[in-house]
Amino acid sequence: MAILDQLTSQKAIELENKYGAHNYHPLPVVLSRGEGVYVWDVEGKKYYDFLSAYSAVNQGHCHPRIVDAMVNQAKTLTLTSRAFYNDMLGSYEKYATELFGFDKLLPMNTGAEAVETALKLARKWAYEVKGIKENKAEIIVCENNFHGRTTTIISFSNDPVARANFGPYTKGFLKIEYDNLQELQEALESSNNIAAFLVEPIQGEAGVYVPSEGYLAAAKKMCADYNVLFIADEVQTGIARTGKMLAVDHENVKPDVLILGKALSGGAYPVSAVLADDAIMNVIKPGNHGSTFGGNPVAAAVAVAALEVVKDEKLAENAEALGQIFRAELAEFAKENELVKSVRGKGLLNAILINDTEESSTAWDICMKLRDNGLLAKPTHGNIIRFAPPLVMNEEQLLDCISIIKKTISEF
Ligand SMILES: *Cc1c(COP(=O)(O)O)cnc(C)c1O
Repeated sequence: MAILDQLTSQKAIELENKYGAHNYHPLPVVLSRGEGVYVWDVEGKKYYDFLSAYSAVNQGHCHPRIVDAMVNQAKTLTLTSRAFYNDMLGSYEKYATELFGFDKLLPMNTGAEAVETALKLARKWAYEVKGIKENKAEIIVCENNFHGRTTTIISFSNDPVARANFGPYTKGFLKIEYDNLQELQEALESSNNIAAFLVEPIQGEAGVYVPSEGYLAAAKKMCADYNVLFIADEVQTGIARTGKMLAVDHENVKPDVLILGKALSGGAYPVSAVLADDAIMNVIKPGNHGSTFGGNPVAAAVAVAALEVVKDEKLAENAEALGQIFRAELAEFAKENELVKSVRGKGLLNAILINDTEESSTAWDICMKLRDNGLLAKPTHGNIIRFAPPLVMNEEQLLDCISIIKKTISEF
């Protein structure tokens, strides 16, 4: 691999541009190593990672416990398919269902697959338990949602970039405004064919929109009143990111269906899951649904280690404490700096709103300067910058990062 070892950043970018599909527009930095809250580029420059791979790396880069679990399992048994049992899956399912308080878990790999699984589960439940007539089930979703990239999921997105020219679109979705209980009430009343309400407890990709306090609890109750499943997509907000194990825990809500991904593996491996109680999950019978890699022994070993790290290292508590400091400092800064309009978020899932249009390059230019100053973040929707460092950060590191952010923006 001598050729790869010698790559400069410039060369690595050229290779991706020439031989890779252009389905991303990365910030120009080529990373080759990571440890905890830090990553290094191929020239050896060190950065704070303030994206954490969209909250997949909550436990920090290359966490030794997670990597050890992965390597040991990889040397023992990697894949059996679900045609046979393996000796890791059951223990993982027991551990995760007890931790999150559900009867059963269905293992998948990516977040989008887990969302697809939840949608299929909700529809099947609607026909077989709720008694909705064949092919009539509808699922309520929110405007500006992000649930992944499959054909069905982009069918109910309203982001033109994610959606245009990928039709025909999957039917059966009803869109309402996020954080609007009135619209949810109307949607629930509008039809007897509603199977479920799919919602992100905080809209991450949309730009870290935190709903009004009480929204999730009230929405859950409304769904229960109409015998409609409340599905929480916690792929980004879950696993300690917002200062609790799950973002719904802030309002003591237990979803009927819980979707996890990203940090379920600490970023080591694609692991996702859908959790539900028996009354719902038991509608899935052998042959109804599956995945060759879903529930493989490496994924199971990695997920258990990743969840243990979150508990043992008290990452939720740390995210809560550091998040308070981050928002207080940046809210103070926003008062005196006219480029920063506001700061919002929960735990260590935060964003600042840049005082410029969505079409402007200001947020991108700020991220380029942050990069030069040793901190990696990326704009979302043009004028919003999300700040989501690994949750293993300590206070001293956070204060260092806050001063990099303030200094960089002040120099603009
Ligand atoms: C990232 C994300 C997904 C999709 O996960 P993939 O692993 O990229 O398929 C789904 N829902 C939410 C809320 C996400 O943030």
